[in-house]
Amino acid sequence: MIPYGLHWLDEEDIARVTRALRSAWITQGPLIEEFEQKVARRCGARFAVAFSSGTTALHAACSAAGIGPGDEVVTTPMTFVATANAVLYQGARPVFADINPETLNVDPERMARAVTSRTKALLPIHFGGLPCDMERIARTARKSGLAVIEDACHALGAEWRTSGGQWEKVGSCSHSDMAVFSFHPVKHITTGEGGMVLTHRVDLRDRLRAFRHHGISKAAGKEDPEPWRSEMQILGCNGRITDFQCALGLNQMEKLEGFLARRRAIALRYGRELEGSCLIPQRFDDAQVRHAWHFYVVQLQSDRPEQDRRELYLALRAAGIGVYVHYLPVHLHSYYQKSFGYRPGDFPAAEAYYQRALTLPLYPKMSDEDVDRTLERVQTEWGAISRGAAWK
Ligand SMILES: *Cc1c(COP(=O)(O)O)cnc(C)c1O
Repeated sequence: MIPYGLHWLDEEDIARVTRALRSAWITQGPLIEEFEQKVARRCGARFAVAFSSGTTALHAACSAAGIGPGDEVVTTPMTFVATANAVLYQGARPVFADINPETLNVDPERMARAVTSRTKALLPIHFGGLPCDMERIARTARKSGLAVIEDACHALGAEWRTSGGQWEKVGSCSHSDMAVFSFHPVKHITTGEGGMVLTHRVDLRDRLRAFRHHGISKAAGKEDPEPWRSEMQILGCNGRITDFQCALGLNQMEKLEGFLARRRAIALRYGRELEGSCLIPQRFDDAQVRHAWHFYVVQLQSDRPEQDRRELYLALRAAGIGVYVHYLPVHLHSYYQKSFGYRPGDFPAAEAYYQRALTLPLYPKMSDEDVDRTLERVQTEWGAISRGAAWK
């Protein structure tokens, strides 16, 4: 089976982790800060705080932004549930704005229209690794005094061009307060489980660090009759990552440029081969963005998309091609329907995409033969199904 995503681990990674395990540290050692600095430098951010997962990092970012009960955070229904759940953990309410049907990113105009007097933050995600229109999102935030948290879990290494023509790296936080990465094995680099928040604000960095350690920190500037005393100032959690995971992360970062180049090469090949095939990829202007290609999604152009997608999914899976569907829109998960009364039809663009969506395998270790086999099977199976549709 060719999976839809897969990590890359080699002997160098293993040696680096082994070396870390033989050191004096297991957790809370020096490799954590080294890893944080390496990612921050690559992305052009001032600070970074590593966490035990991308989900915990998102939760920490929501806490650091001061999001709490009664607040609303505007995000997209077309994301992994962890994005919206981070808002729920803080007792606040995620509010959805529908997507742009071509880029599949949240529509910045709809995002602006979803802002109310209760809105505290905007939480865009760079879907599949394609950067959102951060200038417009930042403008909305500035106008209403909102925080911007980027769920950049798909977008390590992505870049975009400002209207002034300048390239900005996702993670630099040039147009946001914080950006969040995940190091789950299907993401660009892995630490097993892991995540990170990048920021340019020292106050946010300090709050993120405190959150990672139960919200406990030294009370600043106090005369100290009890020198051992640290106090829990906010409700945090144990969100720590281990030293040996950061050893892996450090070594993985050495390979990031190669990973990105390989992902891009495969995506370009898919794009060329599928052109004119009624399998429509994400649309964007290549001169204005550098897509990070976390995954490669296509939309079936068909007048019975749900039926055809199901058939194509099953046929490809049976042929050993591990296609996948990203994602069931967040508002249609039963928990969200039960808790907030969402119904099918609430976010038509996200739902229309979902009915037609298929994710093709894409990961740096994928060989040219795997790509050939995938393309060949996709073309054969889709050919049979779409002709079937035409005869109906
Ligand atoms: C992977 C992912 C997360 C969660 O990251 P974990 O490290 O798995 O906790 C959050 N948001 C998005 C968009 C993701 O893809």
